[in-house]
Amino acid sequence: KSKEAGRNHFTMYTNDLDAISSKRLNLFVALREATHNQEFVLFYQPIIDMQTNQVVSVEALIRWNKGGVMVSPSGFITQLSETGLIIPVGGWAIETACREMMTQLKAGNNQRQISIAVNVSPVQFGSEGFLEHLKKVLTITGLPPHLLVLEVTEDLTIDDSTSAIEMLHKIRELGVKLALDDFGTGYSSLSYLKRLPASKLKIDQSFTRDMLIDPDDKAIVSTIISIAKELKLEVVAEGVEQLEHAETLIHMGCEQAQGFYFMKPQASLRKAMLMELPVQLKKVQNN
Ligand code: C2E
Ligand code: MG
Ligand code: MG
Ligand code: MG
Repeated sequence: KSKEAGRNHFTMYTNDLDAISSKRLNLFVALREATHNQEFVLFYQPIIDMQTNQVVSVEALIRWNKGGVMVSPSGFITQLSETGLIIPVGGWAIETACREMMTQLKAGNNQRQISIAVNVSPVQFGSEGFLEHLKKVLTITGLPPHLLVLEVTEDLTIDDSTSAIEMLHKIRELGVKLALDDFGTGYSSLSYLKRLPASKLKIDQSFTRDMLIDPDDKAIVSTIISIAKELKLEVVAEGVEQLEHAETLIHMGCEQAQGFYFMKPQASLRKAMLMELPVQLKKVQNN
């Protein structure tokens, strides 16, 4: 009897595994087709300088246009990385973002030198032809390198820190800027941060979101702002959803912000570049 039960148990277990792996397999197949059929699109979200009241940068965020439904990257970026599909897809994202910004530049729509930021996953970054591809994109599109920002996460450098840091330096030598995304969630030390040729820290949205209710999160936000100032880096708070977030950040000396309070990611780069500061925030600043 117990042997029977054991076997049944085992059967159920493998069925569960089968269900999980077939779900994964389906997603992989769908993603491979999506890559082949070019079903990915970019959305754009502005980053605002709250002192000058101007958009200073726009972040490109990938979406999977699955038959008209926009699927957000949390549902597929990991899988794209696991399969290596992130290399062509992420490369496409960099190229498309540069091309779109160049279109705006040529049309005379970027007098203020708004930069375009693109996310790069560790797998992409560590891939063979990454630097060559980047150079090619800059040449083909003609985008001035200082208008491109690559957003990387701290964990990028954990496995193989020397070569990753060398790579970051090579990117910097091209004139392309680097931002450390989701800052504060990784494990990197401050001495390590000093070695990275980054020009910007992006405070992770979890800290911004909770800073109004949790003093620890507020302390972390304020500490990151201080570190950025000391190291002469720009600092951006992600996940600004309310006026109170923006006000608090202004008081803490954080100049740049990004979030739904200002604008959700848009299908149009132009629209993101033209964002107007919310009236409420203007009032706060005039006081
Ligand atoms: P991320 O680079 O940290 O991007 C910020 C994410 O926060 C975006 O999610 C954005 O839509 C969302 N967000 C912006 N403002 C707010 C806000 O006020 N509240 C909340 N709750 N969320 C806000 P999204 O677009 O789903 O992207 C998720 C992540 O996927 C990105 O995080 C980035 O790590 C990755 N990703 C996006 N596009 C690409 C890409 O082209 N290539 C690669 N390799 N990764 C990408
Ligand atoms: Mg980002
Ligand atoms: Mg982030
Ligand atoms: Mg993130």
